[in-house]
Amino acid sequence: MRSAGNTTPSGKPFCCDICVAVPVALKEEWAYLKANTKLWHQLRGDECPPSDPIDKEKMQSETPPDYMRLVTCLGPAFCERDYRTLSCRQFPFTPYITADDRFIGITYNWDFQKVAGSSAISTRSARPTARSFF
Ligand code: SF4
Repeated sequence: MRSAGNTTPSGKPFCCDICVAVPVALKEEWAYLKANTKLWHQLRGDECPPSDPIDKEKMQSETPPDYMRLVTCLGPAFCERDYRTLSCRQFPFTPYITADDRFIGITYNWDFQKVAGSSAISTRSARPTARSFF
């Protein structure tokens, strides 16, 4: 799972380091994951070192509470591929679905271009899903 030269300072692939990109789960997806695996928990906000704290309140304010949960896995050493979130599977791409349910293409989250291949982690975002656009 780890790719040399594309890891964060903690040695994780940047796409699996929640101190870089916090996964999201749709509400229904979270209910399924919670019932079937111990891989995930809802973001507490204390998962990253004090030198690189998570601003949970800010991230929460940017995450539609009716649709999504900010979640955290146990990390790549414990990944259960069958229980990855949709945001894991599509990262860093996001399907663009219109309000009338038409799939019109794939978008890319340019925030993560700043961290890919760089040891200077300066950006943290929740991984968007299609519902982020609603
Ligand atoms: S569940 Fe697996 S793929 Fe998803 S962030 Fe965690 S380690 Fe990465």
